[in-house]
Amino acid sequence: MTSKFCKIAVLAMLALCVAVSSASAQDKIRTVIIDGQNNHNWKGTTPYLVKILEDAGIFTVDVATSPENGKDFSNFNVDFSKYDLVVMNYNGDRWNPNMEKAFVDFVVNGGGLLVYHAGNNSFTSWPAYNEMIALGGWGGRTKDSGPYLYLDAEGKTVIDAVQDGPSGDHGPQWEFPIDVRAPEHPIMKGLPLRFRHCKDELYQYQRGPAHNVTVLATSFADPEHRGSNRNEPLILTVPYGKGRCVTNMLGHDVEQLKSVDTIVLLQRCAEWAATGKVTQEVPADFPGEDEPTFRDLEVK
Ligand code: ZN
Repeated sequence: MTSKFCKIAVLAMLALCVAVSSASAQDKIRTVIIDGQNNHNWKGTTPYLVKILEDAGIFTVDVATSPENGKDFSNFNVDFSKYDLVVMNYNGDRWNPNMEKAFVDFVVNGGGLLVYHAGNNSFTSWPAYNEMIALGGWGGRTKDSGPYLYLDAEGKTVIDAVQDGPSGDHGPQWEFPIDVRAPEHPIMKGLPLRFRHCKDELYQYQRGPAHNVTVLATSFADPEHRGSNRNEPLILTVPYGKGRCVTNMLGHDVEQLKSVDTIVLLQRCAEWAATGKVTQEVPADFPGEDEPTFRDLEVK
């Protein structure tokens, strides 16, 4: 081969490499985490959510931080056309009408939504958002917000629109077991049917429209831990238009985001919400039934 041909061959190979690497970057799930208001430690948890998603290797992650409570929201506008997935680490003021419409259009047209922990406490007065989360808590919710939804002792879904009572509650934190209720769903496939979650809040007595809900995981809210005596849904999915909405109520604060089951479930929920598939393997450090497992996440 002449040196000229060599040069051409090398240049061609370089061009191919650039094309391949840019294609793989383009293939990543473009994600935006919305935060800025929450009755939780959003300033602490958002960097862990970024780290958890980036560690999966299939997401690019931006953060959109809203104005503070009571401030002017007219200039807070997320360009949802740049994203495949929205992660809600937000529990606060309503957005401006244009942004709310853009968000609904994003989900209706097939965008993914992952609602994290107190994200389902937000927006009590926004009907579309409540359809997307199916069940919510606190925020002035009442019987008028919708029925309770839980699983009875036989694992049958109960939708109770009759009972008055609280909307959103949890007892003291404890290390509760989580039961997989949809083992063939891509998010849950391959996980042990029961595994031990870290010390965390177990959300109970949630209410909402509860339409078209698939319950992926529950925990028994044990009365010994001031629980409801029900199997409470903690991870669920709802279709909204062409969009896939997933609510994952685990992960109260930074400590819970170091628990392997919290990490893995967030990664899998996020991928499925964005693509309808889960390509990630279940890692070897995923917990079994007896005790939670943790990772040393380093966050700047
Ligand atoms: Zn909490």
